[in-house]
Amino acid sequence: MTTIIIGAGMAGLACARRLADAGEAVIVLDKGRGLGGRLATRRGDAGVFDHGAQYVTARAPAFQTFLDQARTSGAAGLWPRRDDDEAWWVGEPGMSGLVAPLAEGLDIRRSHRVSALRKFEAGWLIDVDQPTSGQISADRVVLAIPAPQARTLLAGHADFAAPLDAVVYAPCWTLMLTVSETLGVAPDVHRSSDGPCAWLARNTSKPGRPSGQEAWVMQAGPRWSEIHLEEDAAAVTERLCDAFRDWAGVPVTILHAAVHRWRYARVMEALGEPFLWDKDQDLGLAGDWCLGPRVEAAFLSGHRLAGSMLGHQTP
Ligand SMILES: Cc1cc2nc3c(=O)[nH]c(=O)nc-3n(C[C@H](O)[C@H](O)[C@H](O)COP(=O)(O)OP(=O)(O)OC[C@H]3O[C@@H](n4cnc5c(N)ncnc54)[C@H](O)[C@@H]3O)c2cc1C
Repeated sequence: MTTIIIGAGMAGLACARRLADAGEAVIVLDKGRGLGGRLATRRGDAGVFDHGAQYVTARAPAFQTFLDQARTSGAAGLWPRRDDDEAWWVGEPGMSGLVAPLAEGLDIRRSHRVSALRKFEAGWLIDVDQPTSGQISADRVVLAIPAPQARTLLAGHADFAAPLDAVVYAPCWTLMLTVSETLGVAPDVHRSSDGPCAWLARNTSKPGRPSGQEAWVMQAGPRWSEIHLEEDAAAVTERLCDAFRDWAGVPVTILHAAVHRWRYARVMEALGEPFLWDKDQDLGLAGDWCLGPRVEAAFLSGHRLAGSMLGHQTP
């Protein structure tokens, strides 16, 4: 029995790992070139930036066990904090590195965008339109992608329409920048409720990042990002750089600045169940949108869906 998992983010890979460890045949498809989805790291001449999830915390034993193992294999480390009781974990050498232990040895096909799904008597047909168009068949399908994108792919499947429609996401504009000076007095992390500068972190203060030019990641809050969602990247870059300068409070020379728009960044209204699984259709859904806006929620969703598919009583 072959399972196709669409999405190589934390949810999809947690599901794939557990199925594969139980001896199941699994193929993972992702439209991106890298792995990790919103656990994302951009590398270039200007530096290394975690432009998606910033750090993760663990409250459930299964996720803590995963992080402990990831630390042993060099894929995770602790970001020392003084202002928070919870341990802040980060992927190494970047946030996307956190999924490396889950992905090891799996059949993962990158740059494979799924454009349609069709159920037929003996299973599923999956249309892929990248890198070249083609079809893949499978006995079971798992969608581990944001709810609105799952809704589009499952347009013909009325059963999941209502739960998927109930999920609400907020967008996020993210600025990645390097500065010539070390902002010595500034804290490594700044947080506020919204505005252009809702989160600001000195990326170079995380363990395992290259030293050198100081790299910062700034994230606008949900309301600010919504208001400026369709503005062009150049205008948003300018606004966010101005906000960074205001925050710094001292003259700074910005050497490099780039923005990334996350349309589905943060889950504002979650489903409230760990996953969806239709045994008759051999169709499963997982993602952070099931439980909440955190990497841990994505892991638990994928992990528990796999447990249910394997017939475990407590997934
Ligand atoms: C800016 C930002 C900051 C965040 N900060 C934090 C934080 O500090 N701590 C925290 O815990 N969480 C944070 N989060 C949330 C966290 O990143 C997510 O909850 C988690 O990574 C979601 O994982 P996922 O597997 O559910 O989805 P995703 O990571 O979105 O993975 C889905 C994957 O599916 C692929 N895909 C989508 N459609 C298709 C298709 N048609 N065909 C093939 N592949 C497809 C995508 O390429 C992607 O790789 C942040 C998110 C953002 C955007």
